[in-house]
Amino acid sequence: MKYISTRGGGEPKSFCDILLGGLAPDGGLYLPETYPRVTKEMLTEWRKLSYAKLAFRIFSLFIDDIPRRDLWAICRKTYTSDVYQYCREGCNPADITPLVTLEPWLHLLELSNGPTLAFKDIALQLLGNLFEYELGRRGEVMNILGATSGDTGSAAEYAMLGKKGVKVFMLSPEGKMSAFQRAQMYSLQDPNILNLAVRGMFDDAQDIVKAVSDDAEFKARYKIAAVNSINWARVMAQIVYYFKGYFSATKSNDEFVNFAVPTGNFGNICAGHIARMMGLPIKRLILATNENDVLDEFFRTGMYRPRSSANTLVTSSPSMDISKASNFERFVFDFVGRDSDIVWSLWHSLGTQGSFDLVGVTRNDVQDFGFVSGVSTHADRLATIRSVWETYGIMIDTHTADALAVARRLRRPGDNIVALETAQAMKFEEAISEALGSNPGRRHSDFVGIEKLPQRVVVIPASSAEVKSYIASNT
Ligand SMILES: *Cc1c(COP(=O)(O)O)cnc(C)c1O
Repeated sequence: MKYISTRGGGEPKSFCDILLGGLAPDGGLYLPETYPRVTKEMLTEWRKLSYAKLAFRIFSLFIDDIPRRDLWAICRKTYTSDVYQYCREGCNPADITPLVTLEPWLHLLELSNGPTLAFKDIALQLLGNLFEYELGRRGEVMNILGATSGDTGSAAEYAMLGKKGVKVFMLSPEGKMSAFQRAQMYSLQDPNILNLAVRGMFDDAQDIVKAVSDDAEFKARYKIAAVNSINWARVMAQIVYYFKGYFSATKSNDEFVNFAVPTGNFGNICAGHIARMMGLPIKRLILATNENDVLDEFFRTGMYRPRSSANTLVTSSPSMDISKASNFERFVFDFVGRDSDIVWSLWHSLGTQGSFDLVGVTRNDVQDFGFVSGVSTHADRLATIRSVWETYGIMIDTHTADALAVARRLRRPGDNIVALETAQAMKFEEAISEALGSNPGRRHSDFVGIEKLPQRVVVIPASSAEVKSYIASNT
């Protein structure tokens, strides 16, 4: 299996060559040259597998430069009930992503039972183990530099915790995250995890990461790498739970399901798109945005108009407060028939005019790819949290509420819908209290009082020179 850039530049590469890098040199994103197809026989066999075995089967279709024994060891170590221990009462942590049935036609797929209580753990825990393995094989070390507004930073830090050869420098906006999110990151005492609170906003932190990464000499000298959501291995890891969720929500491989996905950077739903292209019986991918509705506009009109960060709203589902979706180019590549010249010119007009319109560019229709979309607002979120609590006694977070709100609105007769649960309610206690008048939920004992633990964080001016000199003196 080789990987190519969505913009057509460079030679095809193997999995481990793109694992440690970010964008392709021509600015595109990597995708497999072709998607492997699953057969009826494969689905029949896979239905019975544990999560780790299923992951191994799926990854084997995409990776041919890691020996099978090693890949299996990595899967077994990554997908264990010890790591995904925070499941709901009555669920089995060994399922890794347990399914909760609300109505015969409506299910929740729990993706947030890992150490940081958000679905990003599923991909980043794999990445941590793959990085350690590959760096060990090459005898190299790596310094991960990232910026976070919340979930990504903590998921990356927990994934890289104790990994040989890996150090993490994570920038966060000083005082802008919730107390719970700060505690999750800053209370880590591992000497290889370095938290830098930047005096500024998230965008300032992100600009610093970009400035440092653009300095090719510094980047090479200090072995700077990223773990952002454009990394192919993260998308690949997420394909697995679409299969697992499908098997849990159906009895036979003749049935179809629909997935409702709360969407920001298009990473999660991109994995669903690929699972569908591989032949998993997915009827529709229901894309839910919050008030930041750039992707809803695209799927309704064909017009892609990313916003500036100044025009990005701060909402109660903050992990979806995205103005441009960094994985979207992968879908567009497939949508225009994998024509990299078209992708190149679309992203060119994005650079010059700030938007592009796909109407007339391709004969394909987004519905041919299963996509439908809708917007969920703050009021929708609160109403959904309330009704799910009152009807089923189940507490959901604000992002999952966006998915459920849109799923209920777009449901058609006969649909079987799996809504992806991307975070746990205990991370968003303020919104829960607003929805329910009080917070009847209880934190797992591991998270009680984490706000009071000693914290390790260095406050730093919003300056790339300062961050560079900090890195230079701490590697
Ligand atoms: C990151 C995140 C999302 C959005 O996922 P994308 O892959 O960026 O579309 C949704 N919900 C939660 C809780 C997240 O952390």
